[in-house]
Amino acid sequence: LIEQKTHETVLDINLDAIVHNFKFYRSRLNPETKMICMVKADAYGSGSVEVAKMLQYHKCDYFAVAVAEEGSLLRKSGIKTPIIVLNPEVGGFNQLFESYLEPEVYNFRILDAFIREAQRRGISDFPIHIKMDTGMHRLGFTEEDLPRLVERLLSQKALRVVSTFSHLAASESWAFDEFTTGQISTFKKLAAALQQGLDYPIWKHILNSAGIERFPEEQMDMVRLGISQYGVSASGLSGLRNVCTLRTTILQIKHIEAGETVGYGRKGKVEHDSDIATLRIGYADGLSRQFGNGAGHVLVKDKLVPFVGNICMDLSMIDVTGLDVKEGDPVIIFGDSLSVTDLAKTINTIPYEILTSVSSRVKRIYF
Ligand code: PLP
Repeated sequence: LIEQKTHETVLDINLDAIVHNFKFYRSRLNPETKMICMVKADAYGSGSVEVAKMLQYHKCDYFAVAVAEEGSLLRKSGIKTPIIVLNPEVGGFNQLFESYLEPEVYNFRILDAFIREAQRRGISDFPIHIKMDTGMHRLGFTEEDLPRLVERLLSQKALRVVSTFSHLAASESWAFDEFTTGQISTFKKLAAALQQGLDYPIWKHILNSAGIERFPEEQMDMVRLGISQYGVSASGLSGLRNVCTLRTTILQIKHIEAGETVGYGRKGKVEHDSDIATLRIGYADGLSRQFGNGAGHVLVKDKLVPFVGNICMDLSMIDVTGLDVKEGDPVIIFGDSLSVTDLAKTINTIPYEILTSVSSRVKRIYF
């Protein structure tokens, strides 16, 4: 267990572990393959500025964020590494130009608007990244768009394509390997056609974390490392270090008699006389209400202890009957010994959601 340093609800972030994980993937890739580190959604909850500074120091080639605001924040914090904005919108173009953020261009609406705005500003060769849809069916151009796309790109000088890429829908799943390899071959075809149409070389990339782990031979020019950088192997690979530990404290312990109830809606029925500890964490901190009523557990003194009753906004209750605990003792929600992956499974979600749900009022401590 991480030593309790304060009596608050805290997310401990081990930056050494992030560096270890980054280097772990760096060493598995060809030396010339560029690494795009995903720091969107506040670096999966762990703090984009601190994480990006550390990864910039260790020579990450690119960062990717979801929206322009996330990229501007990094620039204001001194990040000089190139940054891709994955989901740009017309209203955010100003920030892209001002903070030199490189947009993912996913359709003609964004392409045309971005060309117009760059031309209006007298800009040339502004870097962009062309997204191809190869089966995710979320954002991106498809085969039929290619002739018009090439023509449009060649007809202007405001923008310059740095890379083209696609996103795998199920790279972590063996059951969908045929689909995944189909996505990869479709992408290669589309990327080759785009490359052929342009009169300068562009980079190609398709692998996310699970893709890097499972299809390293498809690393092409770049890869996009996300969840695995934060210590959660998307495909169950060992060798990563845990990055985030969410911990809180016991505020009060009460002895409750059999037949009484705990919390809102009287949902936490106590069958036997019990000791109930109230924790300083609730759904407003990012602890899903779905963990309530025995669905989820926490670690107290290395023992798994269930939640009792509904999770409240700022508090939650656990059953510590028979344990040698006292008020002020630390409680681990997730960390080294209770993985975010296992926790996610208990409420039928994914580690990404657990990590990115930790709210801003939870103090981040870096070490
Ligand atoms: N590439 C794109 C386009 C993404 O949207 C994401 C994350 O959602 C990633 C890469 C990283 O995925 P992962 O966290 O699974 O590595």
